[in-house]
Amino acid sequence: MATLNDIRSTFLNYFAKQGHEVVASSPLVPRNDPTLMFANSGMVQFKNLFTGLENRDYKRATTSQKCVRAGGKHNDLDNVGYTARHHTFFEMLGNFSFGDYFKHEAIPFAWELITKDFEIDKSRLLTTVYHTDDEAFEIWKKVGVPEDRIIRIETSDNFWQMGPTGPCGPCTEIFYDHGDHIWGGPPGSPEEDGDRFIEIWNIVFMQNEQFEDGSMVPLDMQSIDTGMGLERIGALLQGSHDNYDTDLFKALIEASADATSVDPYGDKNVHHRVIADHLRSTSFLIADGVMPSNDGRGYVLRRIMRRAMRHAHLLGSKDPVMHRLVPALVQQMGAAYPELGQAQALIEETLQLEETRFKQTLDRGLKLLDDELGSLDTGAPLSGEAAFKLYDTYGFPLDLTQDALREKGRTVDTDGFDAAMAEQKAKARAAWSGSGEAADNAVWFDVLDSADATDFLGYDTEKAEGQV
Ligand code: ATP
Ligand code: MG
Ligand code: MG
Ligand code: MG
Repeated sequence: MATLNDIRSTFLNYFAKQGHEVVASSPLVPRNDPTLMFANSGMVQFKNLFTGLENRDYKRATTSQKCVRAGGKHNDLDNVGYTARHHTFFEMLGNFSFGDYFKHEAIPFAWELITKDFEIDKSRLLTTVYHTDDEAFEIWKKVGVPEDRIIRIETSDNFWQMGPTGPCGPCTEIFYDHGDHIWGGPPGSPEEDGDRFIEIWNIVFMQNEQFEDGSMVPLDMQSIDTGMGLERIGALLQGSHDNYDTDLFKALIEASADATSVDPYGDKNVHHRVIADHLRSTSFLIADGVMPSNDGRGYVLRRIMRRAMRHAHLLGSKDPVMHRLVPALVQQMGAAYPELGQAQALIEETLQLEETRFKQTLDRGLKLLDDELGSLDTGAPLSGEAAFKLYDTYGFPLDLTQDALREKGRTVDTDGFDAAMAEQKAKARAAWSGSGEAADNAVWFDVLDSADATDFLGYDTEKAEGQV
């Protein structure tokens, strides 16, 4: 059986043979790009090549790019544990043309790789095109996809954008039908969010640039940007619809089962899945220089870490566990990503410290949450004050509380939470201005809002997400 490591190599070798330069993944924290929190796709490191701002000595490239989608335009944090196909961290396999080949080559390349090299059953494949893109429709027909399996899509699903600005364009996507034993419908149908028809590959025809003022202009050159999730193609080639059934995830889930002494595939399986996923995103983020903090990137990291720690708690772990899983991850992915092994000690220490600290308040916070829920009418949302107390006193990021409530079919009054937050900030400011040093207050509070030192200050959804 081909492992994920094998499949990554097959992909890169295929495109190397087609004249593509094999380029290393860029770090998760984009260099010089304040518009983006984390690399969320393969094209991020090539943004300036599509717009013509930068030139390199190659016009074709192929990569396996580390991606994190846990905030901003592409956010899959809430999908983890609920779908079979989403991670917060995943690897995106891609091939790129910078003003070199376009639709007529990109589509046949993809088709050949998946149907010949990967030997995927053609009768299970469907494709989508942007509704006005007759050219892409015709090319799919020409490679042999029956007309009734080429679906025209009008929504933004078939117009790809990295973020609010930057290069973009219409796209075509390849889906695999895993069979009617799994819930879900074809793209464009009301049940498309199920896991039966899984999108494996997205091919973007880069031809526009979007600007902050809302205008979109055609680019000078026509380029190609593609992205295929390694874990999705891996699951498919390993005979499953579920990314968490791949060799790599099984190893991580088994490590989690060993560390917690809880059956990996019983009714607690979902917690192991979340832990395995979050282990990857947190470890890779730390390896790329992000440290837990109370705003921006560091706060996204902290939120993911603490979510994982609550799931470990639900598995009954009394002592910190996340750091004990790092060796399994390094064993699986260290060869492809040497930075992981190099940062292993730092990752383990950071996870252990964070989990040790969070454990001091986690139990009590969860007890408070239970008590609050017990005193509410069935179905009523948790009050904003309670969610704020959990945040402020017990270190529960709002989304962690929401994650805990979702399992019980409950929600939070988020307006109430925001109001409680605003009130606390106003009170803190008022108290401070009483000291008679009004002139410096504004500066001091800005510092305080973004500082690490004061543990649970500075939460601001807008701020954490708004960078993307
Ligand atoms: P979906 O519709 O399933 O959420 P997407 O359209 O958001 O996927 P793209 O932005 O087109 O995904 O990314 C390109 C490819 O990367 C997808 O076709 C898929 O194979 C993979 N991918 C996207 N998001 C994730 C994720 N959260 N976890 C794992 N793989 C992903
Ligand atoms: Mg998506
Ligand atoms: Mg999609
Ligand atoms: Mg897509």
